Amino acid sequence: MLDIAKIRKDYPILDRKIYNRPLVYLDNTATSQTPAEVVEAIVSGYTRTKANVHRGVHTLSMEATELQESARRRVKDFINAPSYEEIIFTRGTTEAINLVAASYGGAFLRDGDEIILSVMEHHSNIVPWQLLQRKADIKIRVIPIKDNGELDMDAYKALFNEHTRFVSVCHASNVLGTVNPVKEIVAIAHSHGVPVLVDGAQAAPHIKIDVQDIDADFYAFSAHKMYGPAGVGVLFGKRGLLEIMPPYQGGGEMIESVSFEKTTFAELPYKFEAGTPDFIGIAALHKAINYIENLGIENIAAHEHELLDYTTRRMTDEIPDMRIFGTAPGKCAIISFLVGNEHHYDMGMLLDKLGIAVRTGHHCAQPLMQALGVEGVVRASFAVYNTREECDLFLNALHRVSEMLR
Ligand code: PLP
Repeated sequence: MLDIAKIRKDYPILDRKIYNRPLVYLDNTATSQTPAEVVEAIVSGYTRTKANVHRGVHTLSMEATELQESARRRVKDFINAPSYEEIIFTRGTTEAINLVAASYGGAFLRDGDEIILSVMEHHSNIVPWQLLQRKADIKIRVIPIKDNGELDMDAYKALFNEHTRFVSVCHASNVLGTVNPVKEIVAIAHSHGVPVLVDGAQAAPHIKIDVQDIDADFYAFSAHKMYGPAGVGVLFGKRGLLEIMPPYQGGGEMIESVSFEKTTFAELPYKFEAGTPDFIGIAALHKAINYIENLGIENIAAHEHELLDYTTRRMTDEIPDMRIFGTAPGKCAIISFLVGNEHHYDMGMLLDKLGIAVRTGHHCAQPLMQALGVEGVVRASFAVYNTREECDLFLNALHRVSEMLR
C-alpha cells in the first residue's frame, strides 16, 4: 500500500555506506530517522522564525509561539486528549516520567505506600521511582512476564492491596516488542482507585493512541522515536491530577507572578514548562505527526509487521541455535535475539562491519535481562522505510556472522 521506494527518498541518511556497504538501519527502537520535511521544519525554525516564545509582542515571537501552540493542539488530536492544557512538552519520555514521579509521587506518596511496575520496564520507568524511595519508604512491586513475553495479568491483579497507590507500565516493550493490554491494566488499577502512567515511547510510532479510550491518567512519549527531533517529548496528564500536582521545576514561563515573598504559578500546561522549551523541536514534532498521519499509522504498522514476520520466520528456520526473546501475538516490529552462546556484542560489531546497524546490550532494561537469564541481546527493529531487500541483507549477514563465530 505504501510506496517505500518513494518514502526512502525523504531520508538521505539511508544512502550512506558503512564499510563500503549499503547502510541497513535496524536500530529504530532506539531512534528512528528523520524525513526531509521534518528536517526542513527545523531549518526553517532556525532560519526564518527563531524568537523566544511567550515573551514578545513582535512578529517573530508571535509566529514562534503560534508554531509551538499549534503543535500542542496537534499532539492533543494525535492522542485524542480532551484538551490542549493537558499536553505538557518535556525533553522526552524520561523527563515526562521523572516529572510525574517527582511531582505526583513527591506530593502524594508516603512511607508504606506501594507502586506497581512491570519487569519489562525501561530504566526510565524504574529509576525515577527509586529516586523517590530516598524521600519516602515506598515499596516497588513488579509484574512478571510469561514465557512468550506477555505480562502475567493474574499476577498483576494479585499485587494490589490497601497500600497500592500508583501503577506505571509501558504500552510496548523496547526489548520484547510485547504490546501490553493497557486499557485493561488501567481499568483494573482504577477499580482499586489507583492512577496509572503509561510509558508510550515504543507505542507512539506504531499504534494509534487514544488516551481517553485507554483512560490513562498519564501518558508519555518521545518525538525522536517517531520520525521527529531529539530532545522533545510529551506528557499527557488528566487535568484533575495536573492541577493538584506541584510544579516540577521552577523558572521562567511557569509563573504567574514572582516576588521574594510569594510566587504564584501559571495555569496548565505552563506550570510544568519551566524555562525556554525546544520550541523549534516542538514545531518539528508537529510535522512528524503530520508525516505519520499522512502515511497512516495502520499502514506503517502493517508494513513493519510484514518485515517482522518474514525476518522472524527466516531467522528461526535458517539460523541454528537461534533464540528469539518475545513472541507475544501482535508484538511490535522488534526482534531481540541471541545465537547459541555467542556474545551479543561480538555479533553487533561484526554485523556493523557488514553495514547492518543493530543494537546490542541490555537495552536499558537490566531487570528484564535478569528475568530472561541473559546479560544482553541483539535487537533488530523496523520502521516504515525498511525494505524486504534490507531484511535479506540482514539475514545474509547474520548467516555469515553466526558461521564465523561458530
Ligand atoms: N521507555 C521506553 C519503553 C523506551 O524504549 C525508551 C527509550 O528507548 C524510553 C522510555 C526513554 O525514552 P527517551 O530516552 O526518549 O526519554
